[in-house]
Amino acid sequence: MTQSVAFIGLGAMGYRMAAHLPKYFDTVYVWNRNFSKAEQHATEFGTIASELEQAAQADVIFSCLPTSQDVENLISSIKIKSGAIWIDCTSGVPDAARRLAEQLKAQNVAFLDAPVSGQTIGAENATLTFMVGGDIDAFERAYPAMSALGKLIQHVGESGAGFAVKAINNMLLAVNLWSVAEGFTTLKAHGVNLDAALNCINASSGKSLVTENIFPQRVLSREFPVTFALPLLAKDTGIALDLVHDAKLPAPILSLAQSLIQAASLSAESNSDFSAAVKMYESWTKITLK
Ligand code: NDP
Repeated sequence: MTQSVAFIGLGAMGYRMAAHLPKYFDTVYVWNRNFSKAEQHATEFGTIASELEQAAQADVIFSCLPTSQDVENLISSIKIKSGAIWIDCTSGVPDAARRLAEQLKAQNVAFLDAPVSGQTIGAENATLTFMVGGDIDAFERAYPAMSALGKLIQHVGESGAGFAVKAINNMLLAVNLWSVAEGFTTLKAHGVNLDAALNCINASSGKSLVTENIFPQRVLSREFPVTFALPLLAKDTGIALDLVHDAKLPAPILSLAQSLIQAASLSAESNSDFSAAVKMYESWTKITLK
């Protein structure tokens, strides 16, 4: 039986994810580097803003930080309760998951790489997809806590497999985002009404999350709300490309997508949403997608 849960990293995702835990668990510790966010969370949702050392004594510990390096640095600075399960929801690096799983096993702590998909709205509605790598017994023990935050909770293999699936998922998002930008710019150049085109494509075989959601809500609306930072997508496409290279595979489309997203991230204004990557293509073509 899980007695206490902790959530470390109250960013765009973590703040919303941790909000669900008090509905299921009596004791929910939250910690954030900028501690005022943890205090605000406690006031808003009835969690307990605590020191990192106390959060590390929970039975189940979630983390959701930008990178695996951030998680490794943090874990190396604390003593985790023996018998605990660490569920890392960061979109991280498979090698780091394998290292952490080995390192924590020696302390009788299970480590699951459990990145999520579903955007901030999925975090808010507890409808996230969890793609989980690691020991199957730990997965089963951690299942109820992940179910509190997600809809599909899928074990995908050994340590690192969850991070690998997430990286490839986000690479597919990047490929799609860029190709929809090229396709819609072409339609605009030919004088086609973009809303009408979107209606047709969303009832046809070319549809995707990008055409159904990202383009109408973020790009064509010109809102580009910042919910998933462009540098984080560039990080994910980089992880995916490293996996391609590790496997010694040719992947011309994925390689190009990584370069484009990386270039867009470097040239974008700071604090840009991932959808703002299309602005780089707009600047090349001098055609604005609206
Ligand atoms: P944010 O940038 O919004 O939040 C990052 C969080 O990590 C903040 O709480 C921040 O603390 C903390 N943090 C940053 N650096 C450190 C550090 N060195 N040590 C300790 N804490 C640190 O990121 P997101 O919530 O958007 O993303 C988190 C992870 O989830 C990423 O790996 C991302 O790729 C992934 N993800 C994001 C999605 C999204 O739609 N946003 C969707 C799915 C996955 P502080 O407040 O002090 O800065």
